[in-house]
Amino acid sequence: MPCTARILGCDVDVVEDPNLLLEGSALGEWRSSINQIALADNIDGPNSGETLVHEVIETINSKLELSLKHSQIQALGAALYQFIRDNPDLVSAVVVGEKIPPRAHARGRGRK
Ligand SMILES: [Zn+2]
Repeated sequence: MPCTARILGCDVDVVEDPNLLLEGSALGEWRSSINQIALADNIDGPNSGETLVHEVIETINSKLELSLKHSQIQALGAALYQFIRDNPDLVSAVVVGEKIPPRAHARGRGRK
């Protein structure tokens, strides 16, 4: 699964680290000194996706010096992950730059 994520225009290595769970209870870790997101290697399914989203927000928090509290990062990560999971068509339309599917567009409430 090692790969590169593009975050704020920077390439960030995403790796699995078998030592992560052994060292503590963290499922993931943002390592700013080496520009790397590490994920525990024995998590899968929803957990690994949610952990990745969490660490991406940790990365953004660090790079933009937002000084978010960890509880805020946790809430944002869980909410954003839920949004991604609950709206696959919308998310893929955004990714490929398509027009937003009509059903999603028709609610007419606008963006807030
Ligand atoms: Zn965290």
